[in-house]
Amino acid sequence: MKILVMNSGSSSLKFQLFTGVELAVLASGVIEQIGDTIGHIKINFIDASGANKELKTEQVIPDHRSAIQLMEKLFLEQKILTDVSELTGVGHRVVHGGEAFYKPVQVTKEVLDGIKELIPLAPLHNPANIAGIEVLMEKIPDVPQVAVFDTAFHQTIPQHAYLYALPHELYEKHKVRRYGFHGTSHSYVSKKAAEYLNRPYEELKIITLHLGNGASAAAIDHGLCVDTSMGMTPLEGLVMGTRSGDIDPAILFYLARETGMDIPALDNLLNKESGLKGICGINDMRSIGELAAAGDTQAMLAFKIFCYRIKKYVGAYLAVLGGADCLVFTGGIGENDPEAREQCLLDLDGLGISLDPVKNTTRSDAVIEIQNSGSACTILVVPTDEEYAIAVQTLELLM
Ligand code: ADP
Repeated sequence: MKILVMNSGSSSLKFQLFTGVELAVLASGVIEQIGDTIGHIKINFIDASGANKELKTEQVIPDHRSAIQLMEKLFLEQKILTDVSELTGVGHRVVHGGEAFYKPVQVTKEVLDGIKELIPLAPLHNPANIAGIEVLMEKIPDVPQVAVFDTAFHQTIPQHAYLYALPHELYEKHKVRRYGFHGTSHSYVSKKAAEYLNRPYEELKIITLHLGNGASAAAIDHGLCVDTSMGMTPLEGLVMGTRSGDIDPAILFYLARETGMDIPALDNLLNKESGLKGICGINDMRSIGELAAAGDTQAMLAFKIFCYRIKKYVGAYLAVLGGADCLVFTGGIGENDPEAREQCLLDLDGLGISLDPVKNTTRSDAVIEIQNSGSACTILVVPTDEEYAIAVQTLELLM
């Protein structure tokens, strides 16, 4: 039993190979700067003797087809696989499933056409996901492939929460609505939280905070997602590494009039030059923490703005859910930055959310509980594992 999980970005390919029903990791790798002057490849794997190995190389990788060929070459050269046809199945992370896809599906020609129809909603992401699927369909047509959608978990959000206050025909004709992203992660960590609490998932009210380079919050009511901070695109909501999150949309008209910026320039501004990077020049929270500790006022400000936005969403979702049994931190920042966790939940004691400053600094790869004894809400740090979650869903669908 071998399941390959692929996560294709516009210029990258992350992959992970799992084995056995317990889905142990056999290999994981990343191929970056696809289409650039030089590409970077890193793979970690377990060799025939059971030892952990790491391999790094550089070479020109013109497109996703070449990246997949390279992945296959590494699998064969390092004897991780004897042939790609021995795969049981392949799970693909597909960013946008629109309204059509609300759960994982086995890829057929019709499904692929459906994902292609959604390209206008995710012009940077879906084409890369499609490229990965098409190359493997040609190479190993007999190996089943499964698409797992980032938007699927959020398809239970009710209409009053997913519609924008825009003319209704924009929804009917152009599908303008909130879809939400990071669904695999929100779903995985909220279920892990229920498992940890030893309570039925369907009984709990949970707020999940996925805080990485991209960041989003979700409100989960008795097992169903009822709201999330990302919108029609992953730009809305929380402050992110380089994305602004919520802003007054009239800022765009103002900038267009005052500076002459056109649509691509505004797109680039909000997606690539804003967020933490826009405020203090860097998007990496670890470096921002170091700069802030050394007294850099812009870094301090970026940290404050990032955490304040999260706190506002926590307050909003407490209202949406009518209180929460559990709040979950995950993602690179959520899992590793106690100061950010503390700042996000500062002075929420009156709302039943109260952090224990000592427990909050515990380091662990497992789930940890960090609320104090007076907190009505359990606060957990749950490491996310989107690739594993995709492998589980792929396996479930193929069994
Ligand atoms: P992506 O959205 O790219 O998957 P990650 O979930 O890996 O992002 O999160 C990346 C973010 O996590 C970066 O801002 C990084 O600085 C931050 N991060 C990772 N480790 C730490 C740490 N120990 N302290 C603070 N921030 C951290």
